[in-house]
Amino acid sequence: MSELHQRHRAVMPSWLSLYYDSPIEITGGKGARVTDADGRTYLDFFAGILTNMLGYDVAEVREAVERQIATGVVHTSTLYLLRGQVELAEKLARLSGIPDAKVFFTNSGTEANETALLLATCARGSDQVLAMRNSYHGRSFGTVAVTGNRGWKNSALSPLNVHYLHGTDRSAPAFRGMSDAAYIEACTADLRDVLATATAPDVSCLIAEPVQGVGGFTMPPPGLFAAYKEVLDEHGILFVSDEVQSGWGRTGTGFWGIDEHGVTPDAITFAKGLGNGFAIGGVIARGDLMDGLTTNGVSTFGGNPIATAAANATLDYVLDHDLLSHAAALAPLVGEVLDPLAGSAASVGAVRAKGLMFAVDMVDPATGADSPALASRVLEAARERGLLIGKGGLHGNVLRMAPPLTVDAEELREGMRILADAVG
Ligand code: PLP
Repeated sequence: MSELHQRHRAVMPSWLSLYYDSPIEITGGKGARVTDADGRTYLDFFAGILTNMLGYDVAEVREAVERQIATGVVHTSTLYLLRGQVELAEKLARLSGIPDAKVFFTNSGTEANETALLLATCARGSDQVLAMRNSYHGRSFGTVAVTGNRGWKNSALSPLNVHYLHGTDRSAPAFRGMSDAAYIEACTADLRDVLATATAPDVSCLIAEPVQGVGGFTMPPPGLFAAYKEVLDEHGILFVSDEVQSGWGRTGTGFWGIDEHGVTPDAITFAKGLGNGFAIGGVIARGDLMDGLTTNGVSTFGGNPIATAAANATLDYVLDHDLLSHAAALAPLVGEVLDPLAGSAASVGAVRAKGLMFAVDMVDPATGADSPALASRVLEAARERGLLIGKGGLHGNVLRMAPPLTVDAEELREGMRILADAVG
């Protein structure tokens, strides 16, 4: 154990060990690569944790932040008019596709979801919320309550009355072998049953990730969200799309992950990549809903001048370089390696890919059960070969990859080669 790791363990919780037995100290980065304290360089196919959407040390972002610092104005986001904040809100409102959209800035995805839940429960006058099994929305009091992926078990009390929907989780024996159409029908019937129960006439919203991030990059079948939305609309229930991982064109199928489902949400929550490493998050919602927040909607640092300088530069870069098309163009390269991996060894279960989000399930070769131990072994093997990847899934057996959106074809091929080698 390194000296820094020992000091970390003495004074901080040991979450780091969820990933690596001996965590790395990152001391530098450029593009898709980072360097550790021993001078070793790695391709980062987790982009921080999808935080460094453009990679590391991006001149446009660095210079925008430096320009802001040079003005001397580094302060709260709530007391004064901030030009960069208004400009960013205008861009996000326009990109959201939500009619009359307004934007509320936070510092993180957790706060963004907490705000969206507040917005929906206040607007509808109900603490009842629909959430998806295997979901992840944060670890605060409200967000942990709607987190289906090991969230609730850790919490003693729920501030919300939550009903979990199957959606992306097709593991129940009743669903095995079902066609997508039959599955959607079953899920919609389940939703109707939930809404028909005596305790659930006034459900406020459904919160869902179009691509479940921590859950292992799992997606519902096409058509499921549209079917859900039809039922929700009948009841006036709001739909919150958590785009903290799936936004900005990463899926290659739309600027937001929800786009390919043909559904316009009532609110979108975002964070992670927008600041390219600088902390920013927020909610974009229908103006009438957002106006209900006026007395509660204050966050001292949410949308502060540094964060919005970084976010404006990052978003402009994404749009100017059309990174959505870039993700779509690179997707076949991912498939070329990923598809043959599935079934290539008894230890490889399903593989999933959506643009530049892709995953490999590791399973026990003898039993076929999800194997977190094997996933950890591959994570370490990839690191030894110069590739950093993520882990996740309900049982911690899913290898997750989401390289910076600026990754080029050569870097992608190199990383995929290493992955295949580490898995094999
Ligand atoms: N929502 C999703 C889909 C996430 O993946 C995460 C973090 O991983 C969050 C919310 C919480 O965001 P943050 O860690 O910025 O609070």
